[in-house]
Order: sequence, then structure tokens, then C-alpha cells
Amino acid sequence: MSQNHLTHIRPEILSMGAYHVPNASGLIKLDAMENPYTLPDDLKAQLAAHLAQVALNRYPVPSYIALKDALRAYAHIPADKDIMLGNGSDELIAILSQAISKPNETVTVLAPAPSFVMYKMSSLFNHLNVVEIALNVDDFSLNVRAWTDAIAQHKPALVYLPFPNNPTGNLFDASAMRTIIEAAKGSIVVVDEAYQPFALDTWMDALNEFDNLLVMRTVSKLGLAGIRLGYMAGSSALISELDKVRPPYNVNVLTEATATFVLQHADVLAQQADSIRAERTRVCAALAQMSRVRVYETAANFVLVRLSDAHDADAVFAGMRERGVLIKNMSHAHALLHNCLRITISTPEENTAMLTALQASLND
Ligand SMILES: *Cc1c(COP(=O)(O)O)cnc(C)c1O
Repeated sequence: MSQNHLTHIRPEILSMGAYHVPNASGLIKLDAMENPYTLPDDLKAQLAAHLAQVALNRYPVPSYIALKDALRAYAHIPADKDIMLGNGSDELIAILSQAISKPNETVTVLAPAPSFVMYKMSSLFNHLNVVEIALNVDDFSLNVRAWTDAIAQHKPALVYLPFPNNPTGNLFDASAMRTIIEAAKGSIVVVDEAYQPFALDTWMDALNEFDNLLVMRTVSKLGLAGIRLGYMAGSSALISELDKVRPPYNVNVLTEATATFVLQHADVLAQQADSIRAERTRVCAALAQMSRVRVYETAANFVLVRLSDAHDADAVFAGMRERGVLIKNMSHAHALLHNCLRITISTPEENTAMLTALQASLND
């Protein structure tokens, strides 16, 4: 059988592994930073009635005014800044990459490493040159000198600063961030605040100081991962250019109606985030009691741990899965993550089951 048509796929894509999402059926799912809580029953019923009114036969109204107003109020987006919506922040990252990609020119993107994989994937799909700046080995902080040197050398089109970072969980130091943002005045700078509900810290107000800054958020980690909605705030001059690349109906009417409704009840999501933060404190303390486990500081709804060389992260990951708990093995994702596991914080019951499974797997 001829396979000639496959030669049209770009070689760098042919040589890539597919993004692997493991089968979690029957397992306690602590691998993807999902909020374990759903909406209370009365809100679910109200939402169902609300969605029944949505005109499924019509395209979305592309201005998305009600949703943008709700997001502006919820996230305290400055009044003179614009908002762009994405089908998850993954799509916003893809749009940014498409908008800056120039044929026959080396266009550079700077990102920390280890960090969120989509920065690199999307850059690769769009022929961008990604320069990854290694985080400091001891605490995953920013190496400011390496960043300012790289900005001077590469004059990047785009700079990603996740706040907090995934998969390390830490919030970068504010003065380090500021030094980098000031050095990158000639670049588009994206502060990715996917975990903001658990960090309670933000660069949103800095939009008033830097017109090259974009603050990116998502409702995914907050409890609405299934509806796929990301948003990004910035100067109207910049957002209006990026918005030309956005497919006009990228956010569907069910997502639009759901998010607009749920944001009217943001107190429910805030309470859920509060419980997750309280559990984070308890889980981190319990992990710190385990011998030969190093717990990294986290401001997100997950925690990164490193096992000592007496243990093998692959074996502990497999042992936990056998005991019914799925976490994320980061051990092979980056040299700085050797023997590291990433664990999503969940309900008290699931967290306790995780701690028990981890201790048992360490004892195997
Ligand atoms: C999960 C995550 C996102 C992606 O979120 P979606 O809106 O679900 O696409 C973006 N940035 C970081 C750092 C993340 O960890």
C-alpha cells in the first residue's frame, strides 16, 4: 500500500511522539490538575434550564459581550484593556504563535524549562525558534542573568512567564519577573496565570504599566476544564491584532452560556479553591514527613516531589497506579525533573488515598 501521502506531513511532526493522555478509568485521577468538585445540585439544575434556552442553531455572536463583561468583573481586568477568548488557553498560545511566525526569518520565543509543554509544541508547529532558559536547580527560581542575556542576544518576539509555573508549582519572585519584563520591552510578554485561583497573586494590574504585556488565564483549573475556555487581557492595540488570527466562532455557545452563568456564582468556585488550598497545606505537610521525599514549594493546585536516589520514580508511579491512584511521572520530562512526580491536590478523601498509596509504594 502506498504511503506517499504521509510524506506531505512535515518531518518534525512525523518524528514527534503523540501527546499521551493515559486511560484513567477506575483510578483516582490526580494527573491533570482538575478540580475534583462539581457544581452543587441546585446550580446544576439552574444551569441545565439556562442551557436549554441557548439557540444551538445559531452561530455565536462574535463580540461575546456578556461573557467578556463577566470575565472583566471576575478577574479585575482594567477597564481600558481588551480581552481575547480562546478554546482553552492552549488555543491562545497557538494564535500567538501563528501571529508572530514569519517565513524566512528566525523568530524566537523564550520560555523557562521545565515548563508548560504547549509553549514548545506550538512554537514547533509554527516554525518558531524556542530558546528555553533553565530554571535554577535548587528551587526552580528564575536565573535572571540568563534571561536578560538571552533577551539581549535573541531579541525574542515572545516571552512566556508562567505564574505559578507548571510542573514545578512555584511562583517566581516578583522582582525577578519585573527585571525580565523590563528587559523585554521590545517583545510581547505573556504572563500565564492558569493557576491564579490557587496562588491569589497576579500581574493583572501591571497591564497598566506595560503595553507589551498580556495576562493569560483559563477557567480549566478553576473547575471548568471540560468547557475549554481561556482568556487573555492586554492593550487594545495588541489584542486587536492578535484577534484577527482567532477563528471568529472559536468559543461555542454552550461554553459561552455556561461560563457566563457560572461566573455569576463565582463564590462557589472560590470556596472550592479555598478547600483545595487548605488540603494543599495538609498534603504538603504529610509529604514532608515521608523519608526520602523532597517537597517543592507550591502556589498551585498540585505539588511536585522528588524522590531520593534510593527510590525510582518509575517504580513508585507504577506502584501507585496498581493501588488505584494516577499521578504524573515527570521523571523523564526534563533533566531537572529527575525522579520527580507531580500530584494534583484533590478532595480530603482522595488525598488521603494518595498519601497511603504513595507510602505503600515507597515501602515496596
Ligand atoms: C493547564 C495549563 C494551561 C492550559 O489550560 P487550558 O485553558 O485548559 O488550555 C495553560 N498554561 C499552563 C501553565 C497550564 O498548566
